[in-house]
Amino acid sequence: MPEGLEAALYASAATELVGHQITSIEVDDRCGDSNVLASLVGRHICGVKRHGKRVALETDGAHVELYFAMTGRLIVNGIAPIAALEYGPATERREWDRLVMGTDRGSLRVNDPRRWARFTIDPDWSNLGIDFMSPAQALGDALRAQRHRRCSIKTLLLDQHVIAGLGNMLVDESLFHSGIDPRRSCASLGSVDLDGLAENISVTATELESRGGSHTGTLSPDLRSAMAVCPLDGAPLQRIKISGRTTIFCSQHQQ
Ligand SMILES: [Zn+2]
Repeated sequence: MPEGLEAALYASAATELVGHQITSIEVDDRCGDSNVLASLVGRHICGVKRHGKRVALETDGAHVELYFAMTGRLIVNGIAPIAALEYGPATERREWDRLVMGTDRGSLRVNDPRRWARFTIDPDWSNLGIDFMSPAQALGDALRAQRHRRCSIKTLLLDQHVIAGLGNMLVDESLFHSGIDPRRSCASLGSVDLDGLAENISVTATELESRGGSHTGTLSPDLRSAMAVCPLDGAPLQRIKISGRTTIFCSQHQQ
């Protein structure tokens, strides 16, 4: 799915429609209840909220979550904030539109070739952990509270109940800059390690957001697929699976 960074870019793009009245909604019935969503016609969009990878439009009636799944993209007024997703095709077709929302000034579409996108009224996000763009100290507190866990640090970072919004690429990138082996158990990491990791998550998230998404890191998709060497020390990069996710790390400086 789009990572938290992509969700942040989508949320930012959707704010263009804040203050405007919804005039029409077309929904693919396999992705949302068109009768329920039709009740939003006539409502005004008053805000956009995001927590982790989740994005919702707030209206003066219900809120509606736009869930993008793995390959869903948001297009606002004909412009896609992200041209292509790491796991999706580079092109889009109109028949992949799963939601088309017209307003009195512009429109919003969710385009998803795999049809996994979902649209839900008044979503419950109460089980999510703190947002990944929280201050570094809060991220450190959240990680230190989980030090009893026996899982690997990568598995912990992907757990949306602990920190919401971290995806595979941002996790690998943060561990790379922290010099931490993704296989390390949480219990083996001290407070200094976890605070340093939290700081790196914060800095990396800000940096990659300004560059345009989670695919813009040092461990870019090109580098990830090429089995290249570590840009820091020239050691071969390792590729393994952790929690079912392809994991790239340097066996030399990540210990
Ligand atoms: Zn290295």
